[in-house]
Amino acid sequence: MTGKTHLIGGIIACQAADIFLFQNEGQIGYYAAGLIGALIPDICHTHSKIGRRLPVLSKIVSTLFGHRTFTHSLLFLLLINLLFLYFFPEQEGLRLGFLIGMISHYILDALTVRGIRLLYPATFRFRLARFRTGGVIESILLGVLVLTICFLYIGFQ
Ligand SMILES: [Zn+2]
Repeated sequence: MTGKTHLIGGIIACQAADIFLFQNEGQIGYYAAGLIGALIPDICHTHSKIGRRLPVLSKIVSTLFGHRTFTHSLLFLLLINLLFLYFFPEQEGLRLGFLIGMISHYILDALTVRGIRLLYPATFRFRLARFRTGGVIESILLGVLVLTICFLYIGFQ
């Protein structure tokens, strides 16, 4: 999926979790972390939104792991969780927002033809559908996601 879809997906995932799991306690930092978490898995792609902003790191990750492998896996999710717990133990909101954003990224990429290597280093590719990145279906999905954000905002404020 494109960066735009991942950003919208990250917002809606954080919004839904905030409403249904956290009783609307999400602060601005929670949502900001969710947006970054929604983009960070694509650090493995040098032309992605996050890859263009961190070109050296993106090139290193891309060279070491390739696209949609380690950074789209449960292993990476666990590693990020442990890093947050170790370095920012008091920042529960940031950690949860970041992880929720990452999970939304995984789900959206699992809808594409390429899928993700969720169980990396195993080579199995996890897919929920076979949509083409940047295709018509993604545009429709993006519209549905935006409408869902509006619905959640109006319906649960
Ligand atoms: Zn991705």
